[in-house]
Amino acid sequence: MITVMKFGGTSVGSAEALNRVANIIADTEGEKVVVVSAMSGITNFLVSVVDNPLTDPDAVVDQFRNKHLIEASQLFDGDIMNEFRAEFDTRLEAFRTAIMGDRANPLYRDNVVSQGERFSSLMLSYVLKKMDIKSVALSSEQAGIVAVGNPMAGSADLLKTASGMTMKVKPLLAMGVVPIITGFYGANEDGVPLTFGRGGSDYSAAVVANAIDADMLEIWTDVDGFMSADPRIIPSAIKIDEMNFGEAAELAYFGAKVLHPRTIEPVRLKHIPLKVKNSFKPQEPGTLIHHLRKSKNELLRSVAAKTDLSIITISSAEIAYRPAMVARIIEKIADIDVIIYSISTSLSTVAFLVHNNDVTQTLRQLNGLNGGDIERIDVKNNVALICAVGDNLLDKCGVSGDIFGAVKEADANVEMISEGASDVSLNFVVPMGKVIDVVKVLHDRYIGDQ
Ligand code: ADP
Ligand code: ASP
Ligand code: MG
Repeated sequence: MITVMKFGGTSVGSAEALNRVANIIADTEGEKVVVVSAMSGITNFLVSVVDNPLTDPDAVVDQFRNKHLIEASQLFDGDIMNEFRAEFDTRLEAFRTAIMGDRANPLYRDNVVSQGERFSSLMLSYVLKKMDIKSVALSSEQAGIVAVGNPMAGSADLLKTASGMTMKVKPLLAMGVVPIITGFYGANEDGVPLTFGRGGSDYSAAVVANAIDADMLEIWTDVDGFMSADPRIIPSAIKIDEMNFGEAAELAYFGAKVLHPRTIEPVRLKHIPLKVKNSFKPQEPGTLIHHLRKSKNELLRSVAAKTDLSIITISSAEIAYRPAMVARIIEKIADIDVIIYSISTSLSTVAFLVHNNDVTQTLRQLNGLNGGDIERIDVKNNVALICAVGDNLLDKCGVSGDIFGAVKEADANVEMISEGASDVSLNFVVPMGKVIDVVKVLHDRYIGDQ
C-alpha cells in the first residue's frame, strides 16, 4: 500500500505543527511519500520580494532565515541541529542566488516564489530523522517532477514524471525511506522551476500519486474536509463525507480553495481515491473523494464561487449562422492561452467569461479580428461565477427556477447561466459585490443554517 500525503502551509507552519505532522506520518501504515507546501506566510513573503525592488538582499535573506530558524530552534539541538544547519545554510545560499537573479527572466518569479518548499521539506525530514524514521528531503527536480507550460501556470508532464519518479523515488520506498518532496512546482525541460500556480502543492501531490501508482492520496489541511461552502464565508458550512471526482473537480475549478483547481484529474485517471483531512484533528474521518458514491436525496451538496472574472460580449449580426467566425474568435483567445470559464451564445452575440487580468490582452487579440465583422465588444468587469453542485440539481424539474428565485432574494442579477454543460453542477454569474449574499442564501435555503 502506497499513500501520498500532502501537508499544506498551516499544517507545517510551526514547530508544533511539524511535530503533529511527523506523528501523522509515523502512524500511517505502508509506504509513504510526502509532499509539502511552504510554511504558512512564506510564499506570500516571497511574492512580496518579487513584487518590490530588491534594495537590500541581505535583509531579505535574514528575514527568510529567521522565519525558519525560530521554528527550527524549537525542534533541534546538538548534533542534529548542526547537521540540519549545514544543509539549511547551503539552501540559503541558493536562495540568495535565486533572489539576486535576472528579474527580466520570465521564470524569475517562479524560481523565487517556489523557494519556501525547499526549506519546509528539509525541516520535516529532520523532524522525522529525530524520531528515527528514515527520511530524505527531495526537491521536485531531484524527485523527477517535470513541468511544461507558461510561467506561474505550469502543468505536469505525467508520463515523464512517472518515468522520473520510478527511477528516483521508488527505490527509496523499497529501502524504507520516506521521501519528503517539495510541492508547488516541477522542473521544465531546461531544469528550471516552473510553478503550478498558487496553491499548486495539491496538484503536485496528485501528480506524484499518479506517477508512482499510489493506492491513496491524502490532502492534509486545516479544516475537517471538503465542506458545503467556504467556512470563512459560511461558518455553518458542514463537512461532506463522500464526493465523486466530478463534483470535487467542478467545485475546485470554480473556486473551492481547499483543492487546487487541477488536483482531481491526475488521480481520477488512475482511479486513486483522495481524502481531505484535518492535520489538527487526525482522528476525524475527513472527506473521501472517489469514483462512485451513494446518491443522496439532497438538492445541493456544496457551493463555490470563482471571483475576479469579466464577461466579454461580442456582438455581430446573425453570428449564430457564422460558426467559422465563432471558431476564429475562440482560436484567437486560445492563441494567447487565456482560460475561458464559460461561454454562451445567442443569435447575434457570443459572451465569454475570462479572468479580470486577461481582459486587456483578450481585447487586443480580438481587435485584430475586427475587419467589419464585429459590430461591438462590451466588457463587464468584476463578476463572479457561482458553482452549485448537487445530485438532483439538474434532474428535478423546476430546480433551477427555484435557485434563481433564491438568488433574487439576495437582490442579485444573474448575468449569465451555464446549465447542463456538466452533469453535476449549475453555474451562473453574479456581480462580485453580491457573491457572499448569494452563497449565504443558497446555503441557508438548501443546506441549512445549522
Ligand atoms: P492548505 O495550506 O492546507 O493548502 P488552503 O488555505 O489552501 O490550505 O485551503 C484550505 C482552506 O480552504 C480552508 O481553510 C478554507 O478556508 C478554504 N475553503 C474554501 N472552500 C472550501 C470548501 N468548500 N471546503 C473546505 N475548505 C474550503
Ligand atoms: N506554497 C504555495 C502557495 O502558497 C503552494 C501551496 O501552498 O500549495 O501558493
Ligand atoms: Mg492549498
